[in-house]
Amino acid sequence: MLRNLSSLLLPLIVLLLSWLLLSRAFSLSPAQQELLTLAPYLLAAAALISGYHFKRGRVCLLIILATVNYYLGSHYLAAGTVTPEANLVYRALAILLPFNLLVIALMREKGITGCTGRMRLTFLGGQLFLLWLTLHQGSQALWMALTHPLLQLSLLASLPIPQLSLLMLVAAAGITLWKAWQRPAPVEGALFGVVITFAVLLAWPAVPFVTTIFSGTASLILVLAIIQDSHNMAFRDDMTGLPSRRALNELLRGLGSRYAIAMVDVDHFKRFNDTYGHDVGDQVLKVVAGRLMAVSGGGRPFRYGGEEFTVIFPGKSAKDAAPHLERLRKAIEEYKMALRSDDRPKDDSKGQVSRNRQYASRDVSVTVSIGVAESGSRYTTAEEVIRAADSALYRAKNGGRNQVCLAGQR
Ligand code: GH3
Ligand code: MG
Ligand code: MG
Repeated sequence: MLRNLSSLLLPLIVLLLSWLLLSRAFSLSPAQQELLTLAPYLLAAAALISGYHFKRGRVCLLIILATVNYYLGSHYLAAGTVTPEANLVYRALAILLPFNLLVIALMREKGITGCTGRMRLTFLGGQLFLLWLTLHQGSQALWMALTHPLLQLSLLASLPIPQLSLLMLVAAAGITLWKAWQRPAPVEGALFGVVITFAVLLAWPAVPFVTTIFSGTASLILVLAIIQDSHNMAFRDDMTGLPSRRALNELLRGLGSRYAIAMVDVDHFKRFNDTYGHDVGDQVLKVVAGRLMAVSGGGRPFRYGGEEFTVIFPGKSAKDAAPHLERLRKAIEEYKMALRSDDRPKDDSKGQVSRNRQYASRDVSVTVSIGVAESGSRYTTAEEVIRAADSALYRAKNGGRNQVCLAGQR
Protein backbone atom coordinates (compact mmCIF):
# COMPACT_ATOMS: atom_id res chain seq x y z
CA MET A 1 0.00 0.00 0.00
CA LEU A 2 2.79 2.41 0.94
CA ARG A 3 4.55 1.66 -2.33
CA ASN A 4 1.41 2.65 -4.22
CA LEU A 5 1.45 6.07 -2.60
CA SER A 6 5.22 6.58 -2.83
CA SER A 7 4.82 9.09 -5.67
CA LEU A 8 3.08 11.46 -3.22
CA LEU A 9 6.06 11.63 -0.88
CA LEU A 10 8.18 14.18 -2.74
CA PRO A 11 5.28 16.59 -3.53
CA LEU A 12 4.22 16.49 0.12
CA ILE A 13 7.77 17.22 1.32
CA VAL A 14 8.00 20.19 -1.08
CA LEU A 15 4.62 21.47 0.18
CA LEU A 16 5.80 21.17 3.77
CA LEU A 17 9.02 23.06 3.03
CA SER A 18 6.98 25.76 1.28
CA TRP A 19 4.92 26.21 4.46
CA LEU A 20 8.13 26.58 6.45
CA LEU A 21 9.48 29.11 3.96
CA LEU A 22 6.21 31.05 4.17
CA SER A 23 6.60 31.56 7.89
CA ARG A 24 10.17 32.82 7.38
CA ALA A 25 9.68 34.92 4.26
CA PHE A 26 9.34 38.14 6.27
CA SER A 27 12.76 37.74 7.81
CA LEU A 28 14.47 37.49 4.41
CA SER A 29 16.55 40.45 3.27
CA PRO A 30 15.06 42.72 0.54
CA ALA A 31 17.43 41.23 -2.03
CA GLN A 32 16.36 37.70 -1.08
CA GLN A 33 12.70 38.72 -1.24
CA GLU A 34 13.25 40.11 -4.72
CA LEU A 35 14.84 36.85 -5.76
CA LEU A 36 11.86 35.03 -4.31
CA THR A 37 9.47 36.99 -6.53
CA LEU A 38 11.50 35.93 -9.58
CA ALA A 39 11.69 32.27 -8.53
CA PRO A 40 8.23 31.26 -9.84
CA TYR A 41 9.15 32.48 -13.35
CA LEU A 42 12.54 30.76 -13.29
CA LEU A 43 11.06 27.49 -12.00
CA ALA A 44 8.22 27.72 -14.51
CA ALA A 45 10.75 28.14 -17.34
CA ALA A 46 12.69 25.08 -16.11
CA ALA A 47 9.49 23.04 -15.79
CA LEU A 48 8.22 24.14 -19.20
CA ILE A 49 11.50 23.23 -20.91
CA SER A 50 11.70 19.82 -19.26
CA GLY A 51 7.96 19.18 -19.78
CA TYR A 52 8.34 20.00 -23.47
CA HIS A 53 11.50 17.92 -23.78
CA PHE A 54 9.96 14.84 -22.14
CA LYS A 55 6.62 15.33 -23.94
CA ARG A 56 4.58 15.85 -20.78
CA GLY A 57 1.65 17.83 -22.15
CA ARG A 58 -0.22 17.91 -18.85
CA VAL A 59 2.81 19.36 -17.08
CA CYS A 60 3.13 22.12 -19.69
CA LEU A 61 -0.54 23.05 -19.31
CA LEU A 62 -0.22 23.19 -15.51
CA ILE A 63 2.85 25.41 -15.77
CA ILE A 64 1.01 27.82 -18.04
CA LEU A 65 -1.86 27.92 -15.53
CA ALA A 66 0.47 28.46 -12.58
CA THR A 67 2.34 31.24 -14.39
CA VAL A 68 -0.86 33.04 -15.45
CA ASN A 69 -2.06 32.74 -11.87
CA TYR A 70 1.19 34.15 -10.55
CA TYR A 71 1.21 37.04 -12.98
CA LEU A 72 -2.42 37.99 -12.27
CA GLY A 73 -2.11 37.28 -8.55
CA SER A 74 0.94 39.50 -8.09
CA HIS A 75 -0.55 42.29 -10.23
CA TYR A 76 -4.13 42.37 -8.97
CA LEU A 77 -4.46 40.50 -5.69
CA ALA A 78 -1.52 41.76 -3.62
CA ALA A 79 -3.84 44.10 -1.71
CA GLY A 80 -6.72 41.63 -1.41
CA THR A 81 -9.93 41.40 -3.38
CA VAL A 82 -11.34 44.81 -2.46
CA THR A 83 -11.37 46.59 -5.82
CA PRO A 84 -13.88 45.42 -8.46
CA GLU A 85 -10.99 44.52 -10.74
CA ALA A 86 -9.28 42.39 -8.08
CA ASN A 87 -12.61 40.80 -7.24
CA LEU A 88 -13.16 39.86 -10.88
CA VAL A 89 -9.67 38.43 -11.24
CA TYR A 90 -10.04 36.34 -8.08
CA ARG A 91 -13.42 34.96 -9.11
CA ALA A 92 -12.20 34.15 -12.61
CA LEU A 93 -9.10 32.39 -11.26
CA ALA A 94 -11.19 30.57 -8.66
CA ILE A 95 -13.22 29.05 -11.50
CA LEU A 96 -10.57 28.61 -14.18
CA LEU A 97 -7.83 27.01 -12.04
CA PRO A 98 -10.00 24.21 -10.54
CA PHE A 99 -11.83 23.70 -13.85
CA ASN A 100 -8.58 23.17 -15.73
CA LEU A 101 -7.14 21.03 -12.93
CA LEU A 102 -10.16 18.80 -13.20
CA VAL A 103 -9.86 18.56 -17.00
CA ILE A 104 -6.10 17.86 -16.76
CA ALA A 105 -6.69 15.26 -14.04
CA LEU A 106 -9.06 13.44 -16.39
CA MET A 107 -6.73 13.73 -19.40
CA ARG A 108 -4.46 11.07 -20.67
CA GLU A 109 -0.86 12.02 -21.43
CA LYS A 110 -0.72 13.03 -25.09
CA GLY A 111 2.31 15.26 -25.41
CA ILE A 112 2.15 18.90 -26.40
CA THR A 113 3.18 19.18 -30.02
CA GLY A 114 0.71 16.76 -31.61
CA CYS A 115 -2.82 17.54 -32.74
CA THR A 116 -4.33 16.83 -29.29
CA GLY A 117 -1.67 18.93 -27.60
CA ARG A 118 -2.40 21.87 -29.89
CA MET A 119 -6.15 21.52 -29.28
CA ARG A 120 -5.57 21.58 -25.53
CA LEU A 121 -3.39 24.67 -25.80
CA THR A 122 -6.05 26.39 -27.90
CA PHE A 123 -8.71 25.47 -25.33
CA LEU A 124 -6.60 27.04 -22.56
CA GLY A 125 -5.83 30.05 -24.77
CA GLY A 126 -9.59 30.52 -25.36
CA GLN A 127 -10.24 30.67 -21.64
CA LEU A 128 -7.47 33.21 -21.10
CA PHE A 129 -8.90 35.32 -23.93
CA LEU A 130 -12.30 35.21 -22.20
CA LEU A 131 -10.67 36.31 -18.95
CA TRP A 132 -8.86 39.15 -20.72
CA LEU A 133 -12.06 40.22 -22.46
CA THR A 134 -14.14 40.35 -19.27
CA LEU A 135 -11.32 42.15 -17.44
CA HIS A 136 -10.96 44.63 -20.28
CA GLN A 137 -14.69 45.37 -20.29
CA GLY A 138 -14.97 45.24 -16.49
CA SER A 139 -17.86 42.81 -16.88
CA GLN A 140 -18.34 40.78 -13.70
CA ALA A 141 -21.57 39.01 -14.67
CA LEU A 142 -20.13 35.70 -15.94
CA TRP A 143 -17.77 35.17 -12.99
CA MET A 144 -20.37 36.34 -10.44
CA ALA A 145 -22.83 33.79 -11.81
CA LEU A 146 -20.28 30.98 -11.71
CA THR A 147 -19.13 31.78 -8.19
CA HIS A 148 -22.59 32.22 -6.72
CA PRO A 149 -23.07 29.96 -3.64
CA LEU A 150 -24.80 26.70 -4.60
CA LEU A 151 -26.09 26.04 -1.08
CA GLN A 152 -26.46 28.23 2.01
CA LEU A 153 -23.89 26.57 4.23
CA SER A 154 -22.54 28.54 7.18
CA LEU A 155 -19.64 26.07 7.40
CA LEU A 156 -18.25 27.27 4.07
CA ALA A 157 -19.14 30.95 4.52
CA SER A 158 -15.79 31.84 6.10
CA LEU A 159 -13.84 30.30 3.20
CA PRO A 160 -13.11 32.65 0.30
CA ILE A 161 -13.16 29.79 -2.23
CA PRO A 162 -16.50 29.68 -4.08
CA GLN A 163 -18.47 26.47 -3.60
CA LEU A 164 -18.28 25.39 -7.24
CA SER A 165 -14.49 25.84 -7.14
CA LEU A 166 -14.26 23.84 -3.94
CA LEU A 167 -16.30 21.05 -5.50
CA MET A 168 -14.03 20.94 -8.55
CA LEU A 169 -10.91 21.01 -6.35
CA VAL A 170 -12.14 18.10 -4.24
CA ALA A 171 -13.01 16.14 -7.40
CA ALA A 172 -9.58 16.90 -8.92
CA ALA A 173 -7.86 15.86 -5.67
CA GLY A 174 -9.84 12.59 -5.62
CA ILE A 175 -9.09 11.77 -9.26
CA THR A 176 -5.37 12.57 -9.04
CA LEU A 177 -5.08 10.58 -5.81
CA TRP A 178 -6.81 7.63 -7.45
CA LYS A 179 -4.55 7.82 -10.49
CA ALA A 180 -1.42 8.08 -8.32
CA TRP A 181 -2.61 4.97 -6.45
CA GLN A 182 -3.27 3.08 -9.69
CA ARG A 183 0.01 4.03 -11.34
CA PRO A 184 2.65 5.12 -8.85
CA ALA A 185 4.56 7.30 -11.32
CA PRO A 186 6.17 10.60 -10.18
CA VAL A 187 4.10 12.78 -12.52
CA GLU A 188 0.82 11.32 -11.21
CA GLY A 189 1.83 12.08 -7.61
CA ALA A 190 2.90 15.57 -8.70
CA LEU A 191 -0.57 16.28 -10.14
CA PHE A 192 -2.07 15.67 -6.69
CA GLY A 193 0.56 17.96 -5.17
CA VAL A 194 -0.37 20.68 -7.68
CA VAL A 195 -4.07 20.39 -6.78
CA ILE A 196 -3.17 21.01 -3.12
CA THR A 197 -0.92 23.92 -4.14
CA PHE A 198 -3.70 25.58 -6.16
CA ALA A 199 -6.13 25.05 -3.26
CA VAL A 200 -3.69 26.94 -0.99
CA LEU A 201 -3.34 29.71 -3.60
CA LEU A 202 -7.11 30.18 -3.76
CA ALA A 203 -7.69 29.88 -0.02
CA TRP A 204 -5.21 32.67 0.91
CA PRO A 205 -5.01 34.88 -2.19
CA ALA A 206 -3.97 38.06 -0.37
CA VAL A 207 -1.73 36.67 2.37
CA PRO A 208 1.75 38.06 1.64
CA PHE A 209 4.10 35.63 -0.09
CA VAL A 210 1.47 32.88 -0.55
CA THR A 211 1.11 33.59 -4.27
CA THR A 212 4.87 33.89 -4.77
CA ILE A 213 5.90 30.82 -2.80
CA PHE A 214 3.13 28.47 -3.84
CA SER A 215 3.24 29.40 -7.55
CA GLY A 216 6.91 28.42 -7.38
CA THR A 217 5.98 25.30 -5.44
CA ALA A 218 3.73 24.06 -8.24
CA SER A 219 6.56 24.37 -10.79
CA LEU A 220 9.12 22.85 -8.42
CA ILE A 221 6.90 19.83 -7.77
CA LEU A 222 6.51 19.31 -11.52
CA VAL A 223 10.23 19.76 -12.31
CA LEU A 224 11.19 17.25 -9.61
CA ALA A 225 8.62 14.77 -10.92
CA ILE A 226 10.04 14.99 -14.44
CA ILE A 227 13.60 14.51 -13.14
CA GLN A 228 12.48 11.52 -11.06
CA ASP A 229 10.55 10.15 -14.02
CA SER A 230 13.51 10.29 -16.37
CA HIS A 231 15.74 8.72 -13.73
CA ASN A 232 13.21 5.90 -13.30
CA MET A 233 13.00 5.42 -17.06
CA ALA A 234 16.73 4.81 -17.16
CA PHE A 235 17.19 2.82 -13.98
CA ARG A 236 13.93 1.04 -13.23
CA ASP A 237 12.16 -1.74 -15.02
CA ASP A 238 8.70 -0.45 -15.85
CA MET A 239 6.79 -3.72 -15.51
CA THR A 240 8.14 -5.11 -12.24
CA GLY A 241 9.25 -1.86 -10.60
CA LEU A 242 12.64 -3.45 -9.84
CA PRO A 243 15.90 -1.63 -10.60
CA SER A 244 17.03 -2.46 -14.14
CA ARG A 245 20.15 -4.01 -15.63
CA ARG A 246 21.57 -0.53 -16.02
CA ALA A 247 21.17 0.12 -12.28
CA LEU A 248 22.86 -3.24 -11.64
CA ASN A 249 25.86 -2.20 -13.74
CA GLU A 250 26.09 1.04 -11.79
CA LEU A 251 26.04 -0.83 -8.48
CA LEU A 252 28.61 -3.40 -9.65
CA ARG A 253 31.03 -0.59 -10.44
CA GLY A 254 30.86 0.72 -6.88
CA LEU A 255 30.86 -2.59 -4.97
CA GLY A 256 33.55 -3.32 -2.38
CA SER A 257 35.78 -6.36 -2.59
CA ARG A 258 33.45 -8.73 -0.77
CA TYR A 259 30.00 -9.58 -2.09
CA ALA A 260 27.84 -12.43 -3.32
CA ILE A 261 25.83 -12.44 -6.54
CA ALA A 262 22.80 -14.66 -7.07
CA MET A 263 21.20 -15.33 -10.45
CA VAL A 264 17.52 -16.26 -10.19
CA ASP A 265 15.65 -17.81 -13.13
CA VAL A 266 11.99 -18.81 -13.31
CA ASP A 267 11.60 -22.52 -14.07
CA HIS A 268 9.90 -23.67 -17.27
CA PHE A 269 8.57 -20.22 -17.88
CA LYS A 270 8.18 -20.71 -21.60
CA ARG A 271 5.81 -23.58 -20.87
CA PHE A 272 3.97 -21.43 -18.30
CA ASN A 273 3.45 -18.70 -20.90
CA ASP A 274 2.28 -21.23 -23.47
CA THR A 275 -0.26 -22.65 -21.02
CA TYR A 276 -1.68 -19.51 -19.41
CA GLY A 277 -0.82 -16.73 -21.85
CA HIS A 278 1.70 -13.93 -21.79
CA ASP A 279 -0.44 -11.63 -19.61
CA VAL A 280 -0.67 -14.15 -16.77
CA GLY A 281 3.09 -14.65 -17.27
CA ASP A 282 3.60 -10.93 -16.70
CA GLN A 283 1.45 -11.04 -13.54
CA VAL A 284 3.58 -13.87 -12.21
CA LEU A 285 6.79 -11.97 -12.93
CA LYS A 286 5.40 -9.09 -10.88
CA VAL A 287 4.67 -11.49 -8.01
CA VAL A 288 8.20 -12.91 -8.23
CA ALA A 289 9.56 -9.34 -8.27
CA GLY A 290 7.51 -8.58 -5.13
CA ARG A 291 9.11 -11.54 -3.32
CA LEU A 292 12.55 -10.44 -4.51
CA MET A 293 12.00 -6.95 -3.10
CA ALA A 294 11.32 -8.55 0.28
CA VAL A 295 14.48 -10.70 0.22
CA SER A 296 16.21 -10.79 3.60
CA GLY A 297 19.91 -10.45 4.44
CA GLY A 298 20.35 -7.04 2.80
CA GLY A 299 20.04 -8.50 -0.72
CA ARG A 300 19.42 -5.99 -3.49
CA PRO A 301 17.29 -7.31 -6.34
CA PHE A 302 17.43 -6.34 -10.04
CA ARG A 303 15.66 -7.49 -13.16
CA TYR A 304 18.49 -8.88 -15.25
CA GLY A 305 16.26 -9.40 -18.29
CA GLY A 306 13.25 -11.52 -19.26
CA GLU A 307 12.49 -13.99 -16.46
CA GLU A 308 15.96 -13.67 -14.95
CA PHE A 309 16.78 -11.67 -11.85
CA THR A 310 19.94 -10.84 -9.94
CA VAL A 311 20.36 -10.35 -6.20
CA ILE A 312 23.51 -8.68 -4.87
CA PHE A 313 24.52 -9.25 -1.25
CA PRO A 314 27.13 -6.60 -0.40
CA GLY A 315 29.64 -7.74 2.23
CA LYS A 316 28.40 -11.34 2.23
CA SER A 317 29.85 -14.66 1.13
CA ALA A 318 27.84 -17.15 -0.93
CA LYS A 319 27.40 -19.26 2.21
CA ASP A 320 26.04 -16.24 4.14
CA ALA A 321 23.60 -15.48 1.33
CA ALA A 322 22.42 -19.08 0.86
CA PRO A 323 19.85 -19.23 3.73
CA HIS A 324 18.26 -15.97 2.55
CA LEU A 325 18.07 -17.30 -1.00
CA GLU A 326 16.58 -20.54 0.25
CA ARG A 327 13.90 -18.55 2.09
CA LEU A 328 13.27 -16.55 -1.11
CA ARG A 329 12.99 -19.73 -3.18
CA LYS A 330 10.47 -21.13 -0.71
CA ALA A 331 8.42 -17.91 -0.57
CA ILE A 332 8.08 -17.98 -4.36
CA GLU A 333 7.22 -21.69 -4.42
CA GLU A 334 4.52 -21.26 -1.77
CA TYR A 335 2.83 -18.26 -3.35
CA LYS A 336 -0.32 -19.26 -5.19
CA MET A 337 -1.79 -16.80 -7.64
CA ALA A 338 -5.54 -17.19 -8.11
CA LEU A 339 -6.44 -17.16 -11.80
CA ARG A 340 -9.46 -15.02 -12.49
CA SER A 341 -11.72 -16.29 -15.25
CA ASP A 342 -10.80 -13.29 -17.40
CA ASP A 343 -7.16 -14.36 -17.21
CA ARG A 344 -7.91 -17.31 -19.45
CA PRO A 345 -6.06 -17.50 -22.72
CA LYS A 346 -7.49 -15.61 -25.67
CA ASP A 347 -6.49 -18.41 -28.00
CA ASP A 348 -9.61 -20.33 -29.06
CA SER A 349 -8.28 -23.82 -28.66
CA LYS A 350 -7.11 -22.98 -25.12
CA GLY A 351 -10.30 -21.01 -24.49
CA GLN A 352 -12.13 -24.30 -24.73
CA VAL A 353 -10.17 -25.59 -21.79
CA SER A 354 -10.51 -22.36 -19.87
CA ARG A 355 -14.26 -22.31 -20.02
CA ASN A 356 -14.27 -25.38 -17.92
CA ARG A 357 -14.87 -24.27 -14.32
CA GLN A 358 -12.00 -26.24 -12.93
CA TYR A 359 -9.59 -24.07 -14.89
CA ALA A 360 -11.30 -20.81 -13.99
CA SER A 361 -10.86 -21.38 -10.26
CA ARG A 362 -7.34 -22.73 -10.47
CA ASP A 363 -4.38 -21.38 -8.54
CA VAL A 364 -1.13 -21.11 -10.41
CA SER A 365 2.41 -20.91 -9.09
CA VAL A 366 5.98 -20.99 -10.34
CA THR A 367 9.30 -22.03 -8.91
CA VAL A 368 12.75 -20.54 -9.38
CA SER A 369 16.26 -21.94 -9.59
CA ILE A 370 19.09 -19.96 -8.06
CA GLY A 371 22.85 -20.00 -8.54
CA VAL A 372 25.09 -18.00 -6.22
CA ALA A 373 28.79 -17.12 -6.28
CA GLU A 374 31.04 -14.83 -4.26
CA SER A 375 33.88 -12.48 -5.01
CA GLY A 376 37.34 -13.46 -3.79
CA SER A 377 40.47 -15.16 -4.93
CA ARG A 378 38.75 -17.30 -7.54
CA TYR A 379 36.68 -14.63 -9.25
CA THR A 380 38.00 -11.11 -9.15
CA THR A 381 35.72 -9.10 -11.44
CA ALA A 382 31.95 -8.83 -11.09
CA GLU A 383 31.57 -10.32 -14.60
CA GLU A 384 33.44 -13.42 -13.44
CA VAL A 385 31.27 -13.73 -10.33
CA ILE A 386 28.14 -13.43 -12.47
CA ARG A 387 29.46 -16.08 -14.85
CA ALA A 388 30.16 -18.39 -11.89
CA ALA A 389 26.67 -17.76 -10.47
CA ASP A 390 25.27 -18.55 -13.93
CA SER A 391 27.00 -21.92 -14.05
CA ALA A 392 25.76 -22.68 -10.53
CA LEU A 393 22.28 -21.80 -11.81
CA TYR A 394 22.81 -24.18 -14.72
CA ARG A 395 23.57 -26.92 -12.20
CA ALA A 396 20.44 -26.05 -10.23
CA LYS A 397 18.42 -26.45 -13.43
CA ASN A 398 20.06 -29.77 -14.28
CA GLY A 399 19.66 -30.97 -10.71
CA GLY A 400 15.86 -30.81 -11.05
CA ARG A 401 15.15 -27.04 -10.71
CA ASN A 402 13.49 -25.29 -7.72
CA GLN A 403 16.75 -25.25 -5.75
CA VAL A 404 19.70 -23.10 -4.74
CA CYS A 405 23.23 -24.09 -5.87
CA LEU A 406 26.51 -22.56 -4.67
CA ALA A 407 29.34 -22.00 -7.13
CA GLY A 408 32.31 -24.27 -6.66
CA GLN A 409 30.33 -26.99 -4.88
CA ARG A 410 29.50 -30.31 -6.40
P1 GH3 B 1 14.15 -23.05 -17.69
O1 GH3 B 1 13.47 -23.72 -16.55
O2 GH3 B 1 15.24 -23.88 -18.26
O3 GH3 B 1 14.62 -21.67 -17.32
O4 GH3 B 1 13.06 -22.91 -18.83
P2 GH3 B 1 12.39 -21.60 -19.39
O5 GH3 B 1 11.26 -21.99 -20.22
O6 GH3 B 1 12.09 -20.69 -18.25
O7 GH3 B 1 13.59 -20.94 -20.20
P3 GH3 B 1 13.66 -20.26 -21.59
O8 GH3 B 1 14.88 -19.38 -21.55
O9 GH3 B 1 13.59 -21.27 -22.69
O10 GH3 B 1 12.39 -19.35 -21.72
C1 GH3 B 1 12.22 -18.19 -21.06
C2 GH3 B 1 10.83 -17.69 -21.35
O11 GH3 B 1 10.50 -16.57 -20.55
C3 GH3 B 1 10.67 -17.29 -22.78
C4 GH3 B 1 9.81 -16.06 -22.73
O12 GH3 B 1 8.59 -16.29 -23.38
C5 GH3 B 1 9.53 -15.84 -21.26
N1 GH3 B 1 9.65 -14.45 -20.90
C6 GH3 B 1 10.76 -13.69 -20.89
N2 GH3 B 1 10.44 -12.42 -20.51
C7 GH3 B 1 9.11 -12.38 -20.30
C8 GH3 B 1 8.20 -11.35 -19.91
O13 GH3 B 1 8.54 -10.21 -19.67
N3 GH3 B 1 6.88 -11.70 -19.78
C9 GH3 B 1 6.45 -12.97 -20.01
N4 GH3 B 1 5.16 -13.23 -19.87
N5 GH3 B 1 7.29 -13.94 -20.41
C10 GH3 B 1 8.60 -13.66 -20.54
MG1 MG C 1 16.10 -17.79 -18.60
MG1 MG D 1 13.65 -19.86 -17.08
